[in-house]
Amino acid sequence: MNGSASDWLRRIRDLPMSGPVRIMNVCGGHERSVSMAGLRSALPSNVALIPGPGCPVCICPEEDIRHAINIALNENVILVTFGDMLRVPINGPKKSIRSLQQAQAAGADIRPIASPLDAVAIAEINPNRTVLFFAAGFETTTAPIAAMMAAGPPKNLLVLLSARLTWPAVALLLESAPPGFDALIAPGHVATVMGPEQWDFVPSQHGIPTAVAGFSPDSLLAASYSVLWQHLSGKPTLDNCYPTVVQPGGNIRAQHVLETVMTVIDAPWRGIGIIPSSGFALRSEWASHDARVQFALDDAGQDEDTGRMPPGCACAEVVLGRAYPNECILYGRACTPRRPIGPCMVSDEGACRIWWASGTMGLAHSSGKDGPTNERSAD
Ligand code: SF4
Repeated sequence: MNGSASDWLRRIRDLPMSGPVRIMNVCGGHERSVSMAGLRSALPSNVALIPGPGCPVCICPEEDIRHAINIALNENVILVTFGDMLRVPINGPKKSIRSLQQAQAAGADIRPIASPLDAVAIAEINPNRTVLFFAAGFETTTAPIAAMMAAGPPKNLLVLLSARLTWPAVALLLESAPPGFDALIAPGHVATVMGPEQWDFVPSQHGIPTAVAGFSPDSLLAASYSVLWQHLSGKPTLDNCYPTVVQPGGNIRAQHVLETVMTVIDAPWRGIGIIPSSGFALRSEWASHDARVQFALDDAGQDEDTGRMPPGCACAEVVLGRAYPNECILYGRACTPRRPIGPCMVSDEGACRIWWASGTMGLAHSSGKDGPTNERSAD
């Protein structure tokens, strides 16, 4: 079934909905489209769209940011990273250096980049210096990093890899009680690389309606209609509402490169803890380019606040879909994009930043134990 955004909205409104349905997305791009297009306020009031774990910068472990800051300050390196990472704050005494941007201001050679190829170019024109690529991202960002490594990076390029897989975070939520959502919109770009089948466990093992969506309002509304219809019919399945881009099996070549260069490990998510099988690490064949090996990085001995969100920051609850951004007491008050306190207000994929940019200013009421509902959405 095809249709415009208004067609899908009409179909959704015609559904014989009774109780509330909470639909989670796990993609910052989805959340941006939902918020910027005002989809929450267009949907029936008993349909809640919940932003979930869709921001890799927001969950990048504090340990890794601290390692990056220390290396940039104390070693003769050029540190390159995606621009969002520069302003992510970590915990520490007020006068200490608590972000890469502050380290840059203190004299460290830190440069924002837009792609792994930028890191290669900087390494090639600086052959006498070590270039450290601090690389955080989900599967879609990680595949090009793997391709860059497989192609043979310059000798002076090291990688501090902080890459994560999205599905294990959803698995973690589904294994917690209650999971906090009734249906899932799966990330289109991740499914393009890894294959939509990666999300089949959600309906088949947990009975949760699931649809893969693209980034336009009509695709997101088509996916919303699909999961609502599945919910009403009691027949959860995996629907691909982005078939022009997402193909069965995904991008086999990209998956092969990922498997060649990287292995999957249990990995920490900031504010959440270790999630099994949720991280990528470089295989030992690439040890000469692995910053963790070359700098003998060890997470033990970091201070006891490591891994926590800043005091008062509800990012962990926001990332897990247990609170809306404007339910954080600091939202729009102490914490704004100009003066972010938590990572979700820094990244373009962070829910707090997206909500602020889309004009949601007010402080919401308490969410209660069942998580957000659409009644408090303000877009
Ligand atoms: Fe954290 Fe700021 Fe978002 Fe609150 S508003 S959850 S402090 S990023």
